[in-house]
Amino acid sequence: MSAPLPIVILTGAGISAESGLATFRDKDGLWEGHRVEDVACPDAFRRNPALVHRFYNLRRAGLSEVEPNAAHFALARLQHEYPGEVTLITQNVDDLHERAGSASVIHMHGELRKVRCDLCWRGREWEGDLDTETVCPFCNRAGGMRPDIVWFGEIPKFMERIGRALDRAGIFAAIGTSGHVYPAAGFVSMAAASGAETLEINNAGTAVSSHFDRHLTGPATVQVPVWVDDILNRFGK
Ligand code: NAD
Repeated sequence: MSAPLPIVILTGAGISAESGLATFRDKDGLWEGHRVEDVACPDAFRRNPALVHRFYNLRRAGLSEVEPNAAHFALARLQHEYPGEVTLITQNVDDLHERAGSASVIHMHGELRKVRCDLCWRGREWEGDLDTETVCPFCNRAGGMRPDIVWFGEIPKFMERIGRALDRAGIFAAIGTSGHVYPAAGFVSMAAASGAETLEINNAGTAVSSHFDRHLTGPATVQVPVWVDDILNRFGK
């Protein structure tokens, strides 16, 4: 039995698709019927904060209507049973990894269930709706509250921690992500430069498929459990 190599996993909207959450680009380049420029960038929020609040309020409320799927559960099992390090990075703003039992999830694009205030920069967990009149629970001012989501043009979170994990990676797997959104789309090249074996799990080819050593093609709910079983079997799990 070989020593357990550090594993780094990057997930995208495709891992949550079979739970019923719409991906981003699969059909017509719209996210739940909206152009990205209208709901997921700072300019959109400045132009029409009510629309952006409504969009994220619906996404936040929608979380209670979906459940984690077999792919989320398989990754949680990997994190618990693998004898080495497993770093789970997600671009997703849903909470399905946590609800499947993953203890440590790096949300590089933020989380629907977190909000922050642009006036005082403090943030917290949040269950209900936000609007332009919502008063910040920290500074008691209205008008600054926003979803704690990394919009296009903003800097993703935890990049130093992610960079360190990619430097150490022995295996890198990207699951259900289209390879269009940077810097996440560049992680495969960073991991490969560190000597990691790279694997893409997706139901279709992506913009960066040619950068991966191996591919498992098919639905995440099928392919992710197969991959996890294969790894854990090598360690008698
Ligand atoms: P994307 O929508 O651009 O790409 C989805 C990828 O998943 C595609 O390559 C598609 O072929 C693949 N896919 C779809 N269904 C699949 C399945 N059942 N099994 C395996 N693969 C499947 O997603 P992205 O690359 O994550 O980029 C989208 C951005 O939008 C992210 O930054 C994210 O923050 C945001 N977003 C998040 C959610 C969410 O949190 N669930 C949903 C939509 C968009």
